[in-house]
Amino acid sequence: MTAFQRVVVLGSTGSIGESTLDVIARHPERLAVYALSAYSRIDRLARQAQASGAAVVVVPDDAARRKFLQLWPAGRPAPEIRVGARALVETAADPQCDAVMAAIVGAAGLPAALAAARAGKRVLLANKEALVAAGTLFMQAVRDNGAELLPIDSEHNAIFQCLPHGGRAIAPQAPAPGVRRLLLTASGGPFRGRDLEDLHDVTPAQACAHPNWSMGRKISVDSATMLNKGLEVIEAHWLFAMPPERIEVVVHPQSVVHSMVEYEDGSILAQLGQPDMRTPIAYGLGFPERIDSGVGPLDLARLGRLDFEKPDFARFPCLALSFDALRAGQAACVALNAANEVAVAAFLAGRLAYTWIPRVIEAALEWQAGRASVTLDDLDDILALDAESRAYAGNLGLA
Ligand code: NAD
Ligand code: MG
Repeated sequence: MTAFQRVVVLGSTGSIGESTLDVIARHPERLAVYALSAYSRIDRLARQAQASGAAVVVVPDDAARRKFLQLWPAGRPAPEIRVGARALVETAADPQCDAVMAAIVGAAGLPAALAAARAGKRVLLANKEALVAAGTLFMQAVRDNGAELLPIDSEHNAIFQCLPHGGRAIAPQAPAPGVRRLLLTASGGPFRGRDLEDLHDVTPAQACAHPNWSMGRKISVDSATMLNKGLEVIEAHWLFAMPPERIEVVVHPQSVVHSMVEYEDGSILAQLGQPDMRTPIAYGLGFPERIDSGVGPLDLARLGRLDFEKPDFARFPCLALSFDALRAGQAACVALNAANEVAVAAFLAGRLAYTWIPRVIEAALEWQAGRASVTLDDLDDILALDAESRAYAGNLGLA
């Protein structure tokens, strides 16, 4: 049996964070919470800390710290409260923890995810934006420090399960032998059958109403535009050392086949299951063993059929823009991700029409392509370009 693991859950109050705590609570004999972090919803954080017995919580500022203490029941010893972005990084690398669930949304989660890799932890990576923004640096940190990187994004977790990994986490520098292509499935989101022109007036509530998955608001909008699938193509490129032309997106509206690996002999291996993130989370926490996730069995006869279709790059311009960015290189990927984060935040705040999201991204990619080449050797370089890209997108009248 695998050794007992003390887990840091970064972004514990989010959708992935809550699912992670649910799985951990099912396995007190092998898993415990060491630390939790939240940026808002401090009341939820306080409830989580009480239920899980976390030793440490990380909050963004002093106001959040005071609020946490007000909410804490009198007479019960409070956890250690750490404050600020620096504390997040330190907690991800804390010698007291074995595994880090990186479930902060956006590039904001990059410094802590990278710190966990540098500290040689088991890194359960949900925060795909970190890898999109810093693929080379992140994968190098994993390799150099013997970190155990396990993908939590359902597609990448499925692909990992279908690859010959021999019970060991991988950080390959070349595609696995015998593999022809990776087939990433995409639900197509809530607007799969709709024309782009009809989407101008869609509301945040409509865009966040995903047919199969219940997720945070940012990734829900990304799923509607299919920029999420674009980020996942870039993520797959880094995780599995796969060139862009060997990664294919297949639309599969039922979200039951979570992704596939196609081999040279014509075999395709797929991983299936209910669309519930507790399955990939339990896979990562239990690896290399299989542990209960709380997810029930999949009733195939009741499901009846599985459908597949080609993605429509014209109706989902964000998908094409993501492939463009991947081919253009790391700086373009930073700009793509940053512009999208600014555009999605503006859309969710009612300041940007839905159909303008790809236009903002395209403008940022053009802006980036027109600049002198930048070096992206370390975290500061990446964060500087990320900030410049956000400023550019913001100056389009969005911030
Ligand atoms: P969410 O919005 O529900 O939760 C985000 C968490 O990050 C919250 O705990 C929040 O407090 C914290 N956070 C937000 N901004 C922060 C900041 N600036 N600094 C520190 N903490 C901050 O998001 P989610 O749906 O749980 O997604 C989390 C990550 O997992 C994303 O990168 C997403 O793409 C990825 N992911 C999510 C799902 C899913 O089903 N929800 C599936 C695959 C991948
Ligand atoms: Mg996914």
